[in-house]
Amino acid sequence: MFRRDTPQEAQFRNEVRTWLEANLPHALRGRTTRPHPDELMPFYHTLSRKGWIAPHWPKKYGGMGATLNEQIIMAAEMAHVGAPNLPVQGLNHIGPILMEFGNEAQKARHLPPIIEGSLIWAQGYSEPGAGSDLASLSTRAVPQGDHFVVNGQKIWTTWAHHADWIYALVRTDPEAQPRHAGISFLLIDLHSPGIKVRPIKTIAGDDEFAEVFFDNVVVPAENLVGKLNDGWRIANALLGHERIATSNPQFSLMALERIRTMARASGVIADPAFQDRLAAASINVTALSALFSHAVELANSEKSPGPEASIIKIYGSELLQSLNELLIEAAGGFASADKPIATQFGEVDVATPFLQARRVTIYGGSSEIQRNVVARRVLNLPN
Ligand SMILES: Cc1cc2nc3c(=O)[nH]c(=O)nc-3n(C[C@H](O)[C@H](O)[C@H](O)COP(=O)(O)OP(=O)(O)OC[C@H]3O[C@@H](n4cnc5c(N)ncnc54)[C@H](O)[C@@H]3O)c2cc1C
Repeated sequence: MFRRDTPQEAQFRNEVRTWLEANLPHALRGRTTRPHPDELMPFYHTLSRKGWIAPHWPKKYGGMGATLNEQIIMAAEMAHVGAPNLPVQGLNHIGPILMEFGNEAQKARHLPPIIEGSLIWAQGYSEPGAGSDLASLSTRAVPQGDHFVVNGQKIWTTWAHHADWIYALVRTDPEAQPRHAGISFLLIDLHSPGIKVRPIKTIAGDDEFAEVFFDNVVVPAENLVGKLNDGWRIANALLGHERIATSNPQFSLMALERIRTMARASGVIADPAFQDRLAAASINVTALSALFSHAVELANSEKSPGPEASIIKIYGSELLQSLNELLIEAAGGFASADKPIATQFGEVDVATPFLQARRVTIYGGSSEIQRNVVARRVLNLPN
């Protein structure tokens, strides 16, 4: 790593490592796809009972109130033990957003179930006609007295078929110019009458996301976050959190471990040219950890991260793809199109993480869109 632990941090690292070793079921380690909630959520609950489910949340909201370095240590130790990908929409997206933009009633109602893991959240931004050009979204919410009536469709909604709630961008003023000035941010109970959810299978074979249909869904007015037609500002703040959270080095560290194991098993580890590439990959993962720690520091200042979040999203996602390409090379002639490879060091799944890494430069805004953000909002280049 790029920094050394203080004696207290070394003690904390040791405590985390020992605890994870004792409490993370072996069946959940090294998984390349997110396990089904029946299998995954008991571990979420265990982490929650330990008080470690939200290292980055302040203590007053049930978080760990961890220092920056403790957060980095947690991420590294989760990678070390091969921890699975937890549902993050509550912990990393809507939780911090409610802390910043929600009213007291919304915080009191929605934050505790996220910490406990009793309710799962989904993100309703993308639509069939609105992805990169998110401001063109057309899911309509019409205010009627003390509620809204919602009609429309969301797509690519991660875990919607397992989720209880969705935070959604909805059009509340169809005439507004510019278009984003007519968008609001609503919290919607996915068990409401009029909602249908249809899972979609990905190239890696998992049903990680779904389509969500809204047919005259009644949503109480108290579920509006912020002001009417002020959803765009909140939506962008949330994307900043999402872009940083998805660039957590945990996944690159796990990919690096997988490459090392595979290269030892195939023998390619002895090839000096491969060693050069592995060394470069390790340095890049260390650079990502440093970038992540800087980004977390900014995010911890109780404000949503700005456009700089795009830089880490590009770096983290493209690095993960290049690591998975190196994994295929490490497997060489052993690479299998669909099955994990049996080695003397245990099974190594090469194909699934490679296929899964295709998605990382798309979700949370594609790499092209991140480069546009950096060009306009960080470098102030002309449109
Ligand atoms: C695994 C996964 C999980 C996801 N989970 C969620 C979720 O939970 N909730 C949710 O709301 N969405 C989710 N998404 C959707 C994701 O946010 C969108 O796929 C993404 O924003 C791109 O939108 P699109 O698919 O409509 O592609 P399009 O916007 O149609 O883009 C197609 C291509 O054109 C390029 N492009 C588009 N506009 C420009 C431009 N102006 N300049 C340069 N290039 C451009 C894009 O980079 C891309 O390569 C998820 C996606 C994936 C892959």
